[in-house]
Amino acid sequence: MQTIKTILNSLSVYLLLFSTVLFLLFSSNTYGQYLPCANEIIQTAQLKDTAFVHHLMKLATLQQNNTNASQRINGTILEIPIVVHVLHLGEPVGTGTNISDQQIIDAVQGTNERWRKINTTEGVDMEVEFCLAQFDPQGNPSNGIVRKDASGIPNYRQYGISYIGAFGQPGSDEIATKDFSNWPHDYVFNIWVVNKIAGGWGGYAFFPLGGNYSTDGVVIISSAVRDTSSTLAHELGHGMSLFHTFQGDDGNFCPVNDFCFFQGDWICDTPPHRQADCAQSNCNNSADSMNAFRNTMSYCSGRGLFTQGQKDRVRTSIPNTSRAALLRSQACTGITTGIRQQTNAKQLDVYPNPSNGNFTLNAEIKPNERAVVEMINTLGQIILQQELSPGNTHTLTFSTKLAKGIYLLQLKKEDVVVGTSLVNVH
Ligand SMILES: [Zn+2]
Repeated sequence: MQTIKTILNSLSVYLLLFSTVLFLLFSSNTYGQYLPCANEIIQTAQLKDTAFVHHLMKLATLQQNNTNASQRINGTILEIPIVVHVLHLGEPVGTGTNISDQQIIDAVQGTNERWRKINTTEGVDMEVEFCLAQFDPQGNPSNGIVRKDASGIPNYRQYGISYIGAFGQPGSDEIATKDFSNWPHDYVFNIWVVNKIAGGWGGYAFFPLGGNYSTDGVVIISSAVRDTSSTLAHELGHGMSLFHTFQGDDGNFCPVNDFCFFQGDWICDTPPHRQADCAQSNCNNSADSMNAFRNTMSYCSGRGLFTQGQKDRVRTSIPNTSRAALLRSQACTGITTGIRQQTNAKQLDVYPNPSNGNFTLNAEIKPNERAVVEMINTLGQIILQQELSPGNTHTLTFSTKLAKGIYLLQLKKEDVVVGTSLVNVH
């Protein structure tokens, strides 16, 4: 490990120079073409910032040294509370840019399915979930969705929000637009749903490092907030310290990747590729190439996986950056409380999982013991309860009562949670 640290230190100056060259090359290009995610510009600009690079190096070193293992062990779900600010143009709820609650809830569920490797056999389970806040910062009940008519913000209706570093493109001021609706960043992770992003981008997000505090979060266009879209899962990847898999390609070059843990995307199991290389890499013929082509952090169609290297980075980043405060937040009391108890409560033996909603639960219930099974949805609401009779094997017949989705199944004895399991109903 000492060798890695030495290499990191001795090459930091080189990296900064290299990044600067990249930035100058990039900034001389044109920006006319549509690209899905403005992080191409943001990250390239941020890599000019010494503090940002040092933060990244610290994370890479922590990851290499395998510190904070307790946060990375299997079975601990890191729960990130979110709030979605819909900055609409005055349309009725459910029309135009003022997308419905259900569309947002479906998109969050689809994002969680992508992050938890549900409905796919590719990649790894990140063991990170996002929950819509159930209480606002004042403690009032909330569904984690805030709606604001932003049509009066200068330039917003015509051009959309202008992110910092938009190189003079017209648009509404980023800070003013976000401060129009903005929750404390140690309480929730902020997501702004907008009509447009100046320059025609689909979304962008800031790393939890070196960014402007009031603008930290994800911005995404309203048309991309759908359960069938991977855009929200992708942007949240940036928000949790993941680069594009093609980071450093400067549009059409093979990213330098001699030291995979701090060049390219700083992840070693996602081989470098050019943005448009999605079936065959001209940069690296590694057997792992599909890790990049099929990756949620690529631009390739059919993207949908994360790798173990990305999981290690995210799970090193969350407890070691400003995101750590979110793990202590009470914004999602319902599902967060339940899921956090997984570390202490026993993992329940439930099968089949996934299922159509009918499960078998193996758990010893003694005579005269009051035992109840509860099904909790991603909003933290208890939607089903069933008392269990004494015995060791219990049949739960919920198929006609549950919609498709992820639920927390928890077993209570005498009102104390003694076991939990995430179950998937499809
Ligand atoms: Zn991106």
